[in-house]
Amino acid sequence: MAEKSFKYVILGGGVAAGYAAREFAKQGVQPGELAIISKEAVAPYERPALSKAYLFPEGTARLPGFHVCVGSGGERLLPEWYSEKGISLILSTEIAQADLASKTLTSAKGEAFKYETLIIATGSTVIKLSDFGVQGADAKNIFYLREIDDADQLVEAIKSKPNGKAVIVGGGYIGLELSAALRINNIDVSMVYPEPWCMPRLFTAGIAAFYEGYYANKGINIIKGTVAVGFGANEKGEVTDVKLKDGRVLEADIVVVGVGGRPLTTLFKGQVAEEKGGIKTDAFFKTSVSSVYAVGDVATFPMKLYNDIRRVEHVDHARKSAEQAVKAIFASEQGKSVDEYDYLPYFYSRAFDLSWQFYGDNVGDTVIFGDSNPTSATHKFGTYWIKDGQVVGAFLESGSPEENKAIANVARAQPPAGSLDELASEGLAFATKL
Ligand code: FAD
Repeated sequence: MAEKSFKYVILGGGVAAGYAAREFAKQGVQPGELAIISKEAVAPYERPALSKAYLFPEGTARLPGFHVCVGSGGERLLPEWYSEKGISLILSTEIAQADLASKTLTSAKGEAFKYETLIIATGSTVIKLSDFGVQGADAKNIFYLREIDDADQLVEAIKSKPNGKAVIVGGGYIGLELSAALRINNIDVSMVYPEPWCMPRLFTAGIAAFYEGYYANKGINIIKGTVAVGFGANEKGEVTDVKLKDGRVLEADIVVVGVGGRPLTTLFKGQVAEEKGGIKTDAFFKTSVSSVYAVGDVATFPMKLYNDIRRVEHVDHARKSAEQAVKAIFASEQGKSVDEYDYLPYFYSRAFDLSWQFYGDNVGDTVIFGDSNPTSATHKFGTYWIKDGQVVGAFLESGSPEENKAIANVARAQPPAGSLDELASEGLAFATKL
């Protein structure tokens, strides 16, 4: 089969790939030099929309509405944009083999792609219950959500089960956003997770109590401290119920599982240095192999602010790491350098009329401030994390753009906290006065 050659290849067609493409264009990439190879059938889009407006019954998001870079207020890159720039968008093409020594990628259909410089942007895949041998986990209408095809299947199921029952397995981002989206579609929703509260990797018990109360008021049945151990199905193979470890059985027409992800690094095993489950990079997203970069969910990179190395599975880092890598590639070609990546962690989520942002590091002591009563109309509240006497992390629900900026500034500046009681009573003013 014919071999294609490019100066630059981005492997993966998700968020990082789209933002990298825009940066390539800014840096003056020439027609024919860049290819994006993606197993998805569509041009890069803002993945977070899949668990939010993509599932809404009204105000629904559909492509081409949310192609990158609209999620950060930037230009929307339609498929035509890539052809105008002479960027090859090679879609519906899964790379099955990567040989970094010969700089060759080979697709599942046997096509070979050569590169001079490679950017790995393969993102993550979902962890499946069938991976743990959960009985009946391959029944129909049990969904996972990563790509647009997954979201389309879920939308079909929602339409085909009006006023149906759904069980959401997992209490993280996906669990919380999907429970809200299904409830808005008039589905009867139960959430199941083993931890004592939702989003335990980020939320404190105090933060989680607000969201759990709010969800309960929306009619969502939250079941904590147990897990799904099996699924029943009807003669058509469709899921009918979820069996819990504590013996309870929940009826279900739809199940959505959100129990975490795993970075897609398998193609490169043994060929490149790895750390903390990802591909190890420097502050320019260069890997241990020359001319190979890794960005987004797959990269384990130096987190300068905390003098640590970390992997981050969030959209803001996917965008910024992609831009940093492309800037570094062009700079090095001109014998120049760029500043080291200096990332301030930023996570957010939206569900119902709620919207929160978090900046910094969630370590140390915490104080909660504001109105965290789930039944109140304003529900503006937040939390600071304090380590070694400094505020290192800040969370805010229902903040205005200025207030969110203020908590970001706090997390970056790490000001002295003073007394925790005073910090709690000062609340948001501590950030806005900085
Ligand atoms: P991805 O965007 O996942 O792109 C990876 C691409 O690589 C995909 O196109 C994939 O098909 C392709 N690919 C993988 N392997 C191959 C192969 N072998 N051959 C060809 N192509 C391949 N983050 C937030 O901060 N806030 C949110 O609200 C939020 N919501 C989310 C909601 C959902 C439903 C999901 C799934 C994620 C969400 N995230 C959110 C996380 C965020 O979307 C990811 O961190 C981000 O997309 C990572 O970008 P990436 O480019 O590294 O990977």
